[in-house]
Amino acid sequence: MTTTSSADLDQLRSSVKGEVHAPSDAGYDEARTIWNAQIDRRPAAVVMATSTEDVVAAVGFARAAGLEISVRGGGHNTGGYAVGDDGLMINLALLNSVEVDVENKRAKVGGGALLSDLDGATQAHGLATPGGMISHTGVAGLTLGGGMGWLTRLHGLTIDNLTGAEIVLADGRVVWASENEHADLFWALRGGGGNFGVVTTFEYALHPVGPMVSVGLFFWEAERATEALTMLRDQVPTLPQDSNVIIGLLNAPPAPFVPAEHHFKPGVLLVLVGFGPPEDHAAQCGQISGVLTPLFEFATPMPYVALQQLQDEATAHGQFNYEKGTQLPELSDAVIEVFVNHLGRRGIPTSQVLFYRLDHAYSAVEENATAYGATRTPRYATMLVAMTPDLAAWESEREWVRNLWTDLQPYSLGIGDYINNMVEFDAERVLASYGPEKYARLAGIKAVYDPQNVFRRNVNIPPAG
Ligand SMILES: Cc1cc2nc3c(=O)[nH]c(=O)nc-3n(C[C@H](O)[C@H](O)[C@H](O)COP(=O)(O)OP(=O)(O)OC[C@H]3O[C@@H](n4cnc5c(N)ncnc54)[C@H](O)[C@@H]3O)c2cc1C
Repeated sequence: MTTTSSADLDQLRSSVKGEVHAPSDAGYDEARTIWNAQIDRRPAAVVMATSTEDVVAAVGFARAAGLEISVRGGGHNTGGYAVGDDGLMINLALLNSVEVDVENKRAKVGGGALLSDLDGATQAHGLATPGGMISHTGVAGLTLGGGMGWLTRLHGLTIDNLTGAEIVLADGRVVWASENEHADLFWALRGGGGNFGVVTTFEYALHPVGPMVSVGLFFWEAERATEALTMLRDQVPTLPQDSNVIIGLLNAPPAPFVPAEHHFKPGVLLVLVGFGPPEDHAAQCGQISGVLTPLFEFATPMPYVALQQLQDEATAHGQFNYEKGTQLPELSDAVIEVFVNHLGRRGIPTSQVLFYRLDHAYSAVEENATAYGATRTPRYATMLVAMTPDLAAWESEREWVRNLWTDLQPYSLGIGDYINNMVEFDAERVLASYGPEKYARLAGIKAVYDPQNVFRRNVNIPPAG
């Protein structure tokens, strides 16, 4: 059976506590809508899970009814894996609790929580775990793919801080995976994506952070982009572990801290965040602007939660988004030339390139300790992004992203990538992202926990054999 009758849905409704939305129901559109406006898929039904038991019932129902399962954590993934046509969408938005164990520095987090839920609850105690940089991103998808953000130089990826997870398996069993229980599954969850089941709880190690952090912002106009990127290539790797940066090729936002005459000007942005003593951060800011005077700069102390929300408005739900990622070992002269050439070719001012610096704690983790495929040598994880509320502009700008990505390939670490940036499913790139050994190990674990590939609406790793 691949279609669902109202009698089928009544059966599902009777077995779960959460609401079940059929296409004719008032709540259906809201429940199926995800962050990227480009994705407009219509599942046969959406179940709003309120507990692990609801998830077990929903998985059992979908399997019996022959419906493809999609799982929505925060619904942020640009590829839209969280929703499919004609299947059963398991929406975890209501599973967003966060319990903080201050004494043991641990947080237990629901599988549908957002980073804002996690950061808000942990920062109330001056604690945090590494996450991403937009607070309306889902904790689940971000974690299962790796998770990189402001704290990654200091404390590693999100998965490097994962200590356990409760997961609903394809056969309906509920297990706890950790270093000591289902260790193979725990290894696979740390980078293997949503392939192994529905995670209903994540447990993280927490670290003292902030609550106030130091933020510096620098901007150089497009005419000096080569100079600015060359300077950043030399300076950024020398910054201590308790600092982190984002480099952006973008247009200056019309924000209060940007002088009005520079609003929308294209150029190079550096955001430099310090988690250590403010005087150290001030010295680092002086070091940067001393080497190349910026067009404008701005520095301020800020709560860590505000830092995490800094880009929320610019990346609000409902925009058309397309992205590709690539990993660059360094900003060589040739790489800088490619970026500078493409900066002027953007069709719309909201398209941008973001560089995440990955080294220190990121690189201290042993290569095979987790399933995360993108390897641990120091690098820039580079995200090429077209984002706009206008569909026509999105279609033309997608070409800009693709052309830039193609021109970067001779200098990148390979066609593989951080799987959370993988918008279009491409089996060859998935294999390249993990490398043959990790991929084979993941496929073997998949064969044990999900031999029929029930969880396949994701960056899929089919079961071995
Ligand atoms: C604007 C923007 C900014 C971003 N910034 C960052 C960043 O700073 N750092 C970073 O590392 N990444 C970043 N990302 C990428 C982000 O990590 C991924 O998009 C991630 O998939 C989002 O997780 P989600 O739960 O919101 O996604 P969803 O769309 O809900 O799900 C993504 C995938 O995970 C699976 N999944 C979701 N929840 C579960 C669960 N509970 N159990 C099992 N499988 C599940 C889904 O089935 C799907 O395959 C960003 C993305 C965007 C669009």
